[in-house]
Amino acid sequence: MKETLKKYLVCPNCAASLEFSDTEREGAEIITGSMHCAACRKTWPIVRGVPRFAPMAEVEKDKAATAANFGWQWQHFTQIDEGYENQFLGWIAPVEREFFKDKVVLDGGCGKGRHTQLAAKFGARDVIGIDLSDAVETAFAATRNLPNAHIVQTDIFNLPFARVFDYAFSVGVLHHLPDPRGGFKSLGSKVKSGGHISAWIYGAENNEWITSFVNPVREHLTSRINPGLLLQLSKIPAAMMFVATKTVYGPLNRSAGGASIARHLFYNDYLKSIAGFGWREQHTIVFDHLVAPTAFYISREEFADWWREIGVEDADINWHNRNSWRGFGQIP
Ligand SMILES: [Zn+2]
Repeated sequence: MKETLKKYLVCPNCAASLEFSDTEREGAEIITGSMHCAACRKTWPIVRGVPRFAPMAEVEKDKAATAANFGWQWQHFTQIDEGYENQFLGWIAPVEREFFKDKVVLDGGCGKGRHTQLAAKFGARDVIGIDLSDAVETAFAATRNLPNAHIVQTDIFNLPFARVFDYAFSVGVLHHLPDPRGGFKSLGSKVKSGGHISAWIYGAENNEWITSFVNPVREHLTSRINPGLLLQLSKIPAAMMFVATKTVYGPLNRSAGGASIARHLFYNDYLKSIAGFGWREQHTIVFDHLVAPTAFYISREEFADWWREIGVEDADINWHNRNSWRGFGQIP
């Protein structure tokens, strides 16, 4: 972690300020150290460059898993698809690149750090990506060279920050939480009055085929098997999708005549949007859909209610690819 991150972190239990100590540094990064709350006498570690507010047992477990599991994931990450930037902006529209300039930004569920990287590149003063999962290892590696990007391992429901953010976004994460609305509220509680928030979630509408056919397979089978095996098995549906997008959805949608036919095809808006992606990215999308133990599909009505609950009466809620909802609003 970088020195600049210190001023944003507070005790997640009592919100008191933290004391930092370090035993290992590499350039600007604190690699190993600890964070201590004098008020409630709790201590958390900084391990491999990442401040960790996850329980110690988790950290130890993930330490052991790291060497074995992350080799291939790190390689995965080096494949930056050119479509990522536009895809991200599609998920957070009407927000544009310029909006990030000089803002203090929270990425609620950063995964491998793809959007934290982009927010840093768009000129955020500081962007903090948080995630509970082991993916923080990859996110740290991907962002350590960006002076304004920071990664913290923490639970979204128990964030170690005061109300300091100008902007928080959460893309594709809330619907995987056990309590999506609670996660959204927690994120909103860290945004300053007058600041903004964006969220993108799976929609209930138009996804009945997923909730009826894919969800049972995910819940009872694919989220329970070994991820390495699932990575192989998921190549079968991914190959079907890949062939369909490359030979039908992509080519048809590129001409006006073809597009008028394509709009009658199954799930056209979404499949059109990913037709430009390469094999690896499409495979990852399918794998992600099958590996998640929890996935909620949320109606517009319920989503609007989340916004009202954090005090945003006039959230800008839009249909994205006709299968998901994106929202943007200002905290009163
Ligand atoms: Zn404390």
